Amino acid sequence: MDKDLTLSIIKPNAVRNKKIGKIISVFEESSLTIKKAKLTRLNKSQAEAFYKEHVDKPFFDELVGFMTSGPIMVLILEGANAVEENRRLMGATNPAEAEQGTIRSLYADSMTENAVHGSDSQKSAHSEIAFFFDE
Ligand code: ATP
Ligand code: MG
Repeated sequence: MDKDLTLSIIKPNAVRNKKIGKIISVFEESSLTIKKAKLTRLNKSQAEAFYKEHVDKPFFDELVGFMTSGPIMVLILEGANAVEENRRLMGATNPAEAEQGTIRSLYADSMTENAVHGSDSQKSAHSEIAFFFDE
């Protein structure tokens, strides 16, 4: 079986709302394995760099403000089709459109404060893992 990696972030609203354990349970009940995890915090320039693909979007400043508003938990998840599987567990970006039972349907507070991030391709998984971990 091919094992892929992906990066997950439990965003500041979910940490504030004490949902780290609930979200980790979703991962543990899935086919994915937690390979590394740490609680950390992004400063403004780090959040801007992480979300640089969105720099021209109208929601960019709000997104950076939110992502720097408190601690986050970053995790490396491993398993077959890790990127796709994590995004399936997360649900749609807009929580109103997220399928029932997905992390965002359960723990998002709004479109911006949508509880989790997941890499969107193997290429971005690789660079996002390097952004947070020495590997
Ligand atoms: P993420 O990259 O965080 O996993 P995603 O890939 O589902 O989410 P993107 O299009 O990459 O969605 O947007 C990045 C993040 O920016 C979203 O998760 C959300 O927090 C925020 N965002 C996206 N679209 C909007 C919007 N229209 N209004 C407000 N915030 C938004
Ligand atoms: Mg994205």
